[in-house]
Amino acid sequence: NSPTAELQALDAAHHLHPFTHGAGLAEKGARVVTRAEGCWLTDSDGNRILDGMAGLWCVNIGYGRSELADAAHRQMLELPFYNTFFQTTHVPALNLAAKLAELAPGDLNHVFFASSGSEANDTNLRLVRTYWQEKGQPERQVVISRWNAYHGSSVGSGSLGGMKGMHAQGGMPIPGIHHIDQPNWWSEGGYATPEAFGLERAQALETAILEIGPEKVAAFIAEPIQGAGGVIVPPETYWPEIQRIAKKYGILLIVDEVICGFGRTGNWFGSQTYDIQPDIMTVAKGLSSGYQPIGASIVTDDVAKVIENTEFNHGYTYSGHPVACAVALENLRILEEEGIVDRVRDETGPYLKERFESLADHPLVGEVKIVGMMGSLALTPDKVTRAPFAEPGTAGLICRERCFANNLIMRHVYDRMVISPPLVISKDEIDTLVERARKSLDEALEQLKA
Ligand code: PLP
Repeated sequence: NSPTAELQALDAAHHLHPFTHGAGLAEKGARVVTRAEGCWLTDSDGNRILDGMAGLWCVNIGYGRSELADAAHRQMLELPFYNTFFQTTHVPALNLAAKLAELAPGDLNHVFFASSGSEANDTNLRLVRTYWQEKGQPERQVVISRWNAYHGSSVGSGSLGGMKGMHAQGGMPIPGIHHIDQPNWWSEGGYATPEAFGLERAQALETAILEIGPEKVAAFIAEPIQGAGGVIVPPETYWPEIQRIAKKYGILLIVDEVICGFGRTGNWFGSQTYDIQPDIMTVAKGLSSGYQPIGASIVTDDVAKVIENTEFNHGYTYSGHPVACAVALENLRILEEEGIVDRVRDETGPYLKERFESLADHPLVGEVKIVGMMGSLALTPDKVTRAPFAEPGTAGLICRERCFANNLIMRHVYDRMVISPPLVISKDEIDTLVERARKSLDEALEQLKA
């Protein structure tokens, strides 16, 4: 037996994986990733694989930055753990909160820490309901979200999400969550211009508010660009209309920046790319480039004022974990001092856009969307009618497998192929990514014809 086969057997015997997509893993064997450097993974067979997904949309500064390991080491020796409950604090947490307040737009000046995006969105659910209770409007309980959204896997955040496959497993959504349709023009909006469709899908928020009763709606939550839903880039008309409606009815706007935050769209936050003024922002992933588990809710002066004056019975043992905060601070320093976000906006983002959009001529590709360092290809058997495949999801799966055989990580969401590489990817590596993607599409096309 090769070392890989032994590791795979041990994994299959004892390790339950998240999001397994059904049986077959034990027979096929999990891929065993052993090391990583920059944008490249190494597996247990010694293959070098270009990571077009930055792990799970998170390794923004790339792998192998020893400065983050040093920061963790120093912090573990100095203060490996202390909590931030009640009236205690420590230096890494207060410094990171201050840094986030400086980076976040508008008066998003106050930070509540968690260990993940899921936990931060659970916090948000509790924050907005507590906020309205304290404002004397306790009947404002409903949070409106979107179908196909992903906001996490806990029961609260999974309920906020609109993944029907998750809800189908029972117990979700919890009461008080209402979903509206997403602005996916390619799949659902062919009858209208993107601009008209964007407006229509935004106005679905107003329709929902009026149906539920404005006095019962606490908040609306959405990602600037839906990530795990397939990198669904909204038409330009969408966000201004959402903002107008949220203001009109006085509901809180929660913008989930777990994927879009920390440079992915070419600005520090997707809210800046779309000129959104959130009341609450969810962050995680790129906050530490995935080197430590950490998430946060960043809230405005107004929200903080209300929450600070009440008993908010909510918190996690690891809210503001000192090691995670120290690593996140070091990650933000690198992003800032090395001008990584600016480079995405001005240099590598435009280059990736030009190269990635060249895939539009491929017979399998219907739509190409890309903003900064997140993009998607809608696969279709018919570019003109935009017909779906007879067995939805199969073409995407085949294409993902071909990518992997060609030493490229791309993910598939049904029949959309998505990328989200480390923000430090070079132009040469972008060329390699696009060449391997094209080769994989060619092979997938052959396989689908067979
Ligand atoms: N929100 C968004 C937009 C996400 O993409 C994710 C994870 O992919 C989450 C929340 C959940 O974050 P976590 O997996 O850290 O709990």
